[in-house]
Amino acid sequence: MSAIDTLPPLREVIATHGLSAKKALGQNFLLDLNLTAKIARQAGDLASCDVLEVGPGPGGLTRGLLAEGARRVVAVEKDARCLPALAEIAAAYPGRLEVLNADALALDWAAHLTPPIKVVANLPYNVGTELLVRWLTPAAWPPVWTSLTLMFQREVAERIVAQPGGKAYGRLAVLAQWRSTARIAMTLPPEAFTPPPKVRSAVVHLEALPEPRFPADPAVLERVVATAFNQRRKMLRAALRGLSPEIEDHLRAAGLTPTDRAEQVPIEGFCALARSLAG
Ligand code: SAM
Repeated sequence: MSAIDTLPPLREVIATHGLSAKKALGQNFLLDLNLTAKIARQAGDLASCDVLEVGPGPGGLTRGLLAEGARRVVAVEKDARCLPALAEIAAAYPGRLEVLNADALALDWAAHLTPPIKVVANLPYNVGTELLVRWLTPAAWPPVWTSLTLMFQREVAERIVAQPGGKAYGRLAVLAQWRSTARIAMTLPPEAFTPPPKVRSAVVHLEALPEPRFPADPAVLERVVATAFNQRRKMLRAALRGLSPEIEDHLRAAGLTPTDRAEQVPIEGFCALARSLAG
């Protein structure tokens, strides 16, 4: 266990504050501060940014972010039991940590941060994908965040960075890569967490592009992609029939083969189809 700050080791913090992990809240804690500092570094320069952290728990990653120089961290934690431990961190880094005891799914978090904003989180697995989809589909682009550095189950991480042609490629890959760059920055074994989850984990780093890679109306694109992958084993002409009676014409106009399946279609193809349907 390293001493990246003068606060007590996390095992001691957990014992002092009685923070036994609750499964319902997706609590798998990172206790190695070297590791949390390494995760924080995956987000790049933090000194000129406000950081949103969802689910700080006992504060391992929070301490990593602050020790790595984050200008300010706003940490949103649902479990009130964690607040005293987080208050100790706030006292050790005066003026740099704001803790909000709230449900991240119900909070207008942007109101608490000043751009540029980076999001860094060891997400609760039960709400991770929902939060990611929200961050990827804001009302306007570019989004309020410049990058997302997020822990997921390895399988979800692979879906985010997947390329066309495989089983992992689907809605998440298209949503993520249409307007961001996405890469797996680190992989972690179950033993990195306390308690260890059943699955392996990975940190994904996404950077928002200033503009989408290919033009398309976001709402139409989302509908096309959701519909196509909803029945991913069907040919496109069957899977997308509900979108238009002339779906085969639209598919051909977009340069797509009506007998192909969704997982063969690159992002550019989905955007062309969305444009054809919108037109
Ligand atoms: N960041 C800590 C770490 O790395 O050790 C804890 C990570 S743990 C996987 C997920 C954390 O998210 C828990 O502290 C849990 O209480 C919190 N959490 C779960 N659901 C939440 C929600 N809807 N809003 C905010 N926090 C939530």
